[in-house]
Amino acid sequence: MLINNMAKFEKKDLKKKSENVSDWYNDLVLKSELADYGPVKGTMIIRPYGYAIWENAQKILDGMFKSDGVQNAYFPLFIPYSLLEKEKEHVKGFAPELALVTVAGGEKLAEPLAIRPTSETIMYEMYSKWISSWRDLPLKINQWNNVVRWEKRTYLFLRTSEFLWQEGHCAHATHQESLDMVLKALDWYKTTYEDYYAMATVVGTKSESEKFAGADATYTVESLMPDGKALQACTSHDLGQNFSKPQNISFQDKEGKNEFVWQNSWGFSTRSIGGLILTHGDDNGLVLPPKLAPIKIVIIPIVRPEDGRQRHTYVNNIFESLATSVGYNNGFVTVKIDEREDISVGRKFNEWELKGIPVRVEIGQKEIDTETVTVVRRDNGEKEIISTKNNGEFIEKMSNLFQDVQKNLFKKSKNFLEENTHEVENYSEFKKIMETTRGFIKAFWCEDAECERKIKEETKASTRCLPLNSKEQKGKCVYCEKPAKHVWYFAQAY
Ligand SMILES: [Zn+2]
Repeated sequence: MLINNMAKFEKKDLKKKSENVSDWYNDLVLKSELADYGPVKGTMIIRPYGYAIWENAQKILDGMFKSDGVQNAYFPLFIPYSLLEKEKEHVKGFAPELALVTVAGGEKLAEPLAIRPTSETIMYEMYSKWISSWRDLPLKINQWNNVVRWEKRTYLFLRTSEFLWQEGHCAHATHQESLDMVLKALDWYKTTYEDYYAMATVVGTKSESEKFAGADATYTVESLMPDGKALQACTSHDLGQNFSKPQNISFQDKEGKNEFVWQNSWGFSTRSIGGLILTHGDDNGLVLPPKLAPIKIVIIPIVRPEDGRQRHTYVNNIFESLATSVGYNNGFVTVKIDEREDISVGRKFNEWELKGIPVRVEIGQKEIDTETVTVVRRDNGEKEIISTKNNGEFIEKMSNLFQDVQKNLFKKSKNFLEENTHEVENYSEFKKIMETTRGFIKAFWCEDAECERKIKEETKASTRCLPLNSKEQKGKCVYCEKPAKHVWYFAQAY
């Protein structure tokens, strides 16, 4: 149903990824009908095909959250400005990109209302009312919503003034419990990226200057895009007691002592779809991993219907067999059959390639006569003839094929990340890489903010993260040559 009105598409029209990644990206997002520009500068419209990808991501993550007892809820879009101001670093960090409502119902408001850039303050206002005893803990709430952070330049999915995400917010009795939750969320995100989005990642902590406004520590999942720039793919924050103290979220512990709760928040957004497109797409269009693709198989009959109206029996049998049996990821498989008669087969191939459908099944007279199908993989274009004589074996083959495609996409992404991660010894090497190939740079850094700022100013590369479980070493800062304890990841970022 998604594609019925697809505009006539010519393959040669699509810009080339190999020539200019960012031109290709914008062109592809529009032509594959994932999204469009909104009437307000900086906003985007997520079209049904793009939204279907997001819905699949939601299903995957929501299942993980709920299995851990995180519950979904909904909090208001408007936040009184005074609430935002309760945590000083938080309001300072978000002020430049806030959208405020000052007039409503025809009257000037006594206090401006912020359109949520994130929901810490408004949620914790309620947490302070709901939490009073150790029995109320842990409190684990997530919401699926939209947030607004004003942007002047739009980059579809990657940077828009309004975007969709989930934000999980938990309150715990101890710092250790809260930290465990921060890392658990981070692990859900890493799994989602690697096992479903088929994107390789680097996971670690942010530097002081790159962390979330109001957090003690920010943990991040970073991925490397084909133009050698890093994408901060999602984050998980250890908020310590930074919000619970000013917002007075306290509880009586088992000994009857009053304590402030320990908190964390974590978010995963539609930005992930931008990463997905950039990572896997090619000169012919999108390439979607089977586990995330809204349409996993397209069947293209190259035979006329038997009696002029009804679908050929053989084609129909294959369709039924695939639609009911290819149980992949709890069976939310979608099989599309393209029976349009006014469009050539070649054009159909091009259109479905543009849409990134993982597997194409062709059925012509030869296939009917030999009880086979011709299967073409989107990820590498390989063709295979598969027998359908034994339905069980046919379905097993198709299922294996999906797993191969999924694995191959991840492998490609992992190889790319590894090949484009450079260990450098000195600053001139650092600069040379950032001027040419870019990619991740691993280098000793003294953890001084001034060094970090200068590196960014001179090379546009920022610290991306200190990988989890990094061992302390003895080294020299790549910039100032003072003693440094850790090797950090640097990159230019989206
Ligand atoms: Zn330094």
